[in-house]
Amino acid sequence: MKRLLAAASVLALALATEAAAQETQASPEAPIASAIAQDVATGVEPIAATPDVAISPSATIQQAMTRPAPSRVRPAINTDEGGLWGMSDRTEQEARNSGQLENDAALNAYLYEVACRVAADACGDIRLYVMNRPYFNASMAPNGYTEVWSGLLLRVEDEAQLAFVLGHEIGHYRERHSLAMLRTIRSRAGVAMVFSIITVGAGVGIIGDIVYLGTIASVFGFSRENESEADMIGFDHAVAAGYDAHAGDLLWQNLLAETQASDNPDVRRQETRGSIFRTHPLSADRVEALEERAAAATGGETHRERYRAAIRPFLGEWLRSDLRRRDYGQTALLLDRLGAHGEDLGVIEYYRGEINRLRRGEGDRERAFQHYSNAIAQPDAPAAAWRELGEYASRDGRNADAVALFTTYLERAPQAGDRALVEARIQQLSGGGQ
Ligand SMILES: [Zn+2]
Repeated sequence: MKRLLAAASVLALALATEAAAQETQASPEAPIASAIAQDVATGVEPIAATPDVAISPSATIQQAMTRPAPSRVRPAINTDEGGLWGMSDRTEQEARNSGQLENDAALNAYLYEVACRVAADACGDIRLYVMNRPYFNASMAPNGYTEVWSGLLLRVEDEAQLAFVLGHEIGHYRERHSLAMLRTIRSRAGVAMVFSIITVGAGVGIIGDIVYLGTIASVFGFSRENESEADMIGFDHAVAAGYDAHAGDLLWQNLLAETQASDNPDVRRQETRGSIFRTHPLSADRVEALEERAAAATGGETHRERYRAAIRPFLGEWLRSDLRRRDYGQTALLLDRLGAHGEDLGVIEYYRGEINRLRRGEGDRERAFQHYSNAIAQPDAPAAAWRELGEYASRDGRNADAVALFTTYLERAPQAGDRALVEARIQQLSGGGQ
């Protein structure tokens, strides 16, 4: 639904700027007609109505940082590019008010710093928002509004891979690929179809309804040519900033492997568009092109440990979100990758247990027990691992064990929402309940 509404709004914009584009093609230097005004007549909200205000995410965070001046000036609202900025402003407004926004100052500062290292002169354009959403996604809108999702941050293995993927987004931004896409859509969509979609969508605030889909790229995807170009820009910028040249090909390889690990046969069959690629169609030839370019490069840092330290406080929260996708094959592969260096094993083993508990397949109950047991042997085990083991002990009639495990759970999670319930269980198991 969201997708349809977002598509409708893009088509609305495509129509609104149709006249402007024709004029531009005929005479590039001529002033562009005020095509946006037509929107008002059709009942669709004017697209570029958002005033030119200095929008800044998490005011307390990035406003406080030293930001260079933006490299781009806002295009006139009666141009198609101005319309795109207006759309991006609205989506950015939604992002700022989203319950999924990660406001953590340290995380935001770290990501912005890495982005600036690869953005060079576009650093002042970036306004970065971290979203707790379990898909591999990042986007940089034409107005500089940039989203990075938790699903991406979990899958990036080190700072070099993060730098590459941010460089890729900055590549789309630099080359104005969103604008190119808009013009392509406009040239393909029949005017009658555009009208019918607008008529259906009018009155429900379609333009404000792009919640999940940061940019029009999220609806239609960039062209393969634009993707390859963004890869090369991301590569060049990341390598110039001193990062490992193989970061890009390793990242894309990991994501292709994750597509193959999906529980869903439809996802496995799609080489180029797995469920985790919303915006950037990926294929093996892009991996090869990056490998080729990296072959000549030497040196470069991954900064793996620094990256892991930055995301460590969020691992549990983001893995919980990842499980909501109910693609346990993919989450299991992700956990293997996260555990490859022997770090955070308490969290990782707990979530392996969660996969088994939720999947309920043959042998899953026993496997979950084993993973929870492994988890509590680690210093970073989530408190919930003791609660789950308490449930096992209780079901098996090992009441004294259950009491001990539930008690440890409450000691480790004194603010637990289910405290009263667990206390009652303890009472009951101790023989004091009814
Ligand atoms: Zn891309």
